[in-house]
Amino acid sequence: MRRLLVAGNWKMHGSRDMAAALIGDIVSATDNLQAADVIVCPPFPFLGLAQKLLADSPVALGGQNISEHQQGAYTGEVSAPMLVEFGCRFVIVGHSERRTLYGENDASVARKFAAAQRSKLIPILCVGETLEERERGETEAVVLRQVQSAVDVAGVEAFADAVVAYEPVWAIGTGRTASPEQAQEVHALIRQKISEQDDTIAGDLRILYGGSVKASNAVSLFGMPDIDGGLIGGASLDGDEFLSICRARG
Ligand code: PEP
Repeated sequence: MRRLLVAGNWKMHGSRDMAAALIGDIVSATDNLQAADVIVCPPFPFLGLAQKLLADSPVALGGQNISEHQQGAYTGEVSAPMLVEFGCRFVIVGHSERRTLYGENDASVARKFAAAQRSKLIPILCVGETLEERERGETEAVVLRQVQSAVDVAGVEAFADAVVAYEPVWAIGTGRTASPEQAQEVHALIRQKISEQDDTIAGDLRILYGGSVKASNAVSLFGMPDIDGGLIGGASLDGDEFLSICRARG
């Protein structure tokens, strides 16, 4: 069975003190978390603090975004090698907020995916349809196009060291969760798409669900055969709630 992976995306929330308290709660509970791989993705300014606090912990560190460039005159950007220096092993690429608010598209997200891997970071590739796309019956086409654009740039073998997160845009931060069956349907399509190109990689690929996951719905979501964990936004800012999600396995 693929191991459960739970990643907390803090977005642009919190403070230094809050980061220290939250990581402290998570670290003190990790000996009870054998069932899951846990990642925290704080805002960039808190990565140094997080790196120190997580030094002797199995909890991994991730960034929320990276530049597609390695270095250069790109004011305000953060590169993959910089995240590596702060102990990051993972990075989120193509989050829907980056796509809708900052003009990222399939091509730029695919370049970020490849940039992450050049620095040996594991990209968490976010894909997902808007409500309008779902209502027009375009979910499958949109999600598979988003996945395939990363395959086209990086090659299917790149998915041996990558994670995919299916995050329907209408479920992110809205309190409206996809049903386990709706999510399972899309996860199975993603796995099928990769499997047409490499069956072994598809079998091992961890596909996370994200969108208003809470302790109360995590067990039923994680119980689906193709849901291998979650990308957690709001609920990752509450230590007890996040830890309950990490312990959920259907
Ligand atoms: C997210 O930010 O990726 C996310 C899934 O947020 P939330 O859990 O708050 O819906």
